[in-house]
Amino acid sequence: MPSAITTVRTVEDLRAHLAPWRKSGERIALVPTMGTLHAGHLSLVTLAKSKADCVVVSIFVNPIQFGPREDFNTYPRDEAGDLVKLGEAGADLVFAPDTAAMYPQGFSTKVSVGDLTEDLCGANRPNHFDGVATVVTKLLLQCAPDMAIFGEKDYQQLLVIKRLVRDLNMPVEILGGPIVREEDGLALSSRNAYLSPAERKTAPLLHQTISEVAAALAQGEGADAASQAGRFKLEAAGFRVDYVAVRDPDTLKPLSGPVKHARVLAAAYLGKTRLIDNGPVPPKA
Ligand code: AMP
Repeated sequence: MPSAITTVRTVEDLRAHLAPWRKSGERIALVPTMGTLHAGHLSLVTLAKSKADCVVVSIFVNPIQFGPREDFNTYPRDEAGDLVKLGEAGADLVFAPDTAAMYPQGFSTKVSVGDLTEDLCGANRPNHFDGVATVVTKLLLQCAPDMAIFGEKDYQQLLVIKRLVRDLNMPVEILGGPIVREEDGLALSSRNAYLSPAERKTAPLLHQTISEVAAALAQGEGADAASQAGRFKLEAAGFRVDYVAVRDPDTLKPLSGPVKHARVLAAAYLGKTRLIDNGPVPPKA
């Protein structure tokens, strides 16, 4: 039975724990999360352990990345369960600040990445990526890790953070981890818990459709026709589609016509639950 994992809640305690590790030359990885951990999060911990000597996991449901009508209040929280999972996964330290520690009275600074954040999820969720960029900047400064690991599940977020770190010359390496899925293809997400049994049955169609769009692109179909077909398929199954998009995998710029190197990204609602997923275009068979 692994021993209980150490949890710190203030920046002072975090730095006090990290100082001796840093002094002895250990490489530190940070895995930022909003908790209610599943196998997707834990895969990032495993990746972090393979690359670094010490793995810090932050758990913080970041209020400023939620819109006023979004699910901040109802977002699932299970710190006790998370600590057990992180102990078993071999993480070394948990940083779980409360909102007042992260955003003390009078907090007024905002980090805004621009460009990459303006469409796709950014179009539907104004201020979301500013909230993400602000909290990730704080976490990187608080922890000063050698590397930080993010999931490809939130592909736009991963690129936003890579841009942020590059633009601000932050001395940290950003690594992406592959998407972990249920057996039926649904990408693991804390928000899957919101799905009714009927919605849960329909949900894997999001991944299936993205894969079909990617396969059509690989066969030479144009980006517009392939993404339209994906949208229709999802709508016919009862999704309210936010976007099905074919983008440059590095810049997220829109692509049209036949494409080779591309990422297919989609966001769609089932009932009140917003699901996102994405995948690469495979090389032509
Ligand atoms: P969250 O707690 O939703 O903010 O996610 C924390 C980190 O876990 C982010 O970097 C996500 O991209 C990543 N993540 C979430 N779901 C998955 C998944 N199914 N597979 C891989 N990484 C994931």
